[in-house]
Amino acid sequence: MDAIPSQKSFDDAKPPDRGRGADHIAPDCAGQNFYAIDRGLRGLVRLYLEPDDFRRLEPHFDRLGVLAGGRLDELARVADKHPPVLNARDRFGRDEDWIDYHSSYREMEQIAFGDFQFHAMSHRAGTLGMDRPLPAVAKYALQYLFVQAEFGLMCPISVTDTSIHLVRKFAGAELKDYLLPKMLSGDVATMWKGTQFMTERAGGSDVGAIETIARCEGGEWRLYGDKWFCSHADADVALLLARPEGAPGGTKGLALFALPRRLKDGRRNAYRIVRLKDKLGTRSMASGEILLEGAVAYLVGEAERGFKQMMEQVNLSRLSHGVRASAMMRRCVNEALVCARSRVAFGKTIIEYPLLRRQLLKIIVPTEQALSMFLFTANAMDRANAGSKETEILLRILTPLLKFRACRDNIPVATGAMEVRGGNGYIEEWVNARLIRDAQIGVIWEGTSNINALDIVTRAVGKSRAHRTLEVALRKLLDQSTLIPAAFRDRLRLALDRTLAFADHVAAEPALEASARRAAGSLYHIASAILMMWEAAQPGADARRALYARFVLEHRLSAQDPLEPRHGEWERKAEELVFSERQVAIAEIAGLLEP
Ligand SMILES: Cc1cc2nc3c(=O)[nH]c(=O)nc-3n(C[C@H](O)[C@H](O)[C@H](O)COP(=O)(O)OP(=O)(O)OC[C@H]3O[C@@H](n4cnc5c(N)ncnc54)[C@H](O)[C@@H]3O)c2cc1C
Repeated sequence: MDAIPSQKSFDDAKPPDRGRGADHIAPDCAGQNFYAIDRGLRGLVRLYLEPDDFRRLEPHFDRLGVLAGGRLDELARVADKHPPVLNARDRFGRDEDWIDYHSSYREMEQIAFGDFQFHAMSHRAGTLGMDRPLPAVAKYALQYLFVQAEFGLMCPISVTDTSIHLVRKFAGAELKDYLLPKMLSGDVATMWKGTQFMTERAGGSDVGAIETIARCEGGEWRLYGDKWFCSHADADVALLLARPEGAPGGTKGLALFALPRRLKDGRRNAYRIVRLKDKLGTRSMASGEILLEGAVAYLVGEAERGFKQMMEQVNLSRLSHGVRASAMMRRCVNEALVCARSRVAFGKTIIEYPLLRRQLLKIIVPTEQALSMFLFTANAMDRANAGSKETEILLRILTPLLKFRACRDNIPVATGAMEVRGGNGYIEEWVNARLIRDAQIGVIWEGTSNINALDIVTRAVGKSRAHRTLEVALRKLLDQSTLIPAAFRDRLRLALDRTLAFADHVAAEPALEASARRAAGSLYHIASAILMMWEAAQPGADARRALYARFVLEHRLSAQDPLEPRHGEWERKAEELVFSERQVAIAEIAGLLEP
């Protein structure tokens, strides 16, 4: 259909000085350094990393920033259009199933597993020139940069990383000696990559319904069953749940096994990839269905604790999913801003229009919330790894909060960024369409939104009381932030009190289960608002983060009358600062935090 010009176009449009033909099309972020252009990330990794680690790792952030805006981005575009292909048999008719990948995917694997060694960086020294494993903050910051270009491959990277974690923590000495040197290798040609299979047709959320059976035959475990969703289907070793014969039903009877693709003599193990899924997103990566036909597997840890052990992997993956959602949102912000600053309509660049600015804020604020939340969570992980019991409890609630809310926010953010680009955003040769497709999976895998919200409310709040540990941490940040006007901090304190009371109420009252998502969302919003306020008050920080905190407070945690005009004077001034392309000082924003 033809575009219908508004009255305004007839009245106001003057011929803008903007070239002809292709010059009208707004550029995208291709060729940019995704680290250098990310003011939020640069400020916060410096804040959350030890100074020495920051100094040593910053060149790698910068290098990956260049790659993500350059070669990786090019490869990701191609890999998305050339999805993996399953071959069931070889030319002799042998059931030697294998998956063919496009060369673009292979090159991305070389960057991820060979050059950066994402899978090993938390587990051993020697990656990126470090004399010890990388802090979680650095690992997830690197994941964040990588995923701004390529989302699909982050699944195999992350599941290899988390499989190594499970083997290191729970496997016996012999199994460790067998698996770890291969899994920790940085030689892409010979290394063993990992994955995890849980979901079956009987249930993904309801893991206790798993039907796969483990039989002890001739002194070794053999698996019989059908795994319905298997990402990174051709991994060299899969960690999976199965029920030993005679074990009780439900999650209690599930044991954790390591399933190698090849046996020690080099033959294929007795399982087949029966088909690959034709997916909406993550198209560069192979997800398939796997038929276990008496496959040899090794028991990992205690047979009775399989599910509990696997939950460690699930929690690590949930954190990575939150990071991935944050990363895709950042790509959306960057794309939207570059477009809004360049596209001209009715004689002005579109960023000048109030409605478009409102749209941009709805993209920017959730992105900044997620950035603060994932770095704070990763920092808690570093402190927990250093022995802090308190931060272990903090992690218990932060992880599902991040997974739940950041993955949900990613969807409207991706749609909003598409809309900013107009019709081109809908066309597959621009990155927006892929960002929309890839955003959807975040609310499905490693627990749907409902499953994460229930985990937060019934277990993290109801059983572990982890929200009270979070409260202590947040109150400390409020007390420390003396550069922020007291009235604003008091409003945040009040919102924190009300949010905690709401979460307690929902957790205590089974009849309120339908409010679990709202309670979880409010916890996320208040935590991220307080974090952003605190970050703004740090020496040398960019103070616009406190403005984001106020946007969250007003729009997510305060009652609003839909029939009242909302766009107050403070918002107009705050927008000016948010869209300015310079560092903002605390003195400039103090007046904008007062009611
Ligand atoms: C591309 C892709 C890749 C995947 N890769 C893997 C993989 O590598 N390994 C793996 O193990 N799994 C994988 N999965 C599976 C994924 O984890 C599951 O699909 C997911 O956990 C949901 O399970 P389900 O599909 O059985 O849906 P169900 O569990 O049947 O859920 C259906 C709906 O019911 C809701 N629901 C369920 N229980 C409740 C409740 N108590 N209260 C309220 N609502 C509820 C859910 O929120 C959901 O909306 C993958 C899935 C996809 C799409």
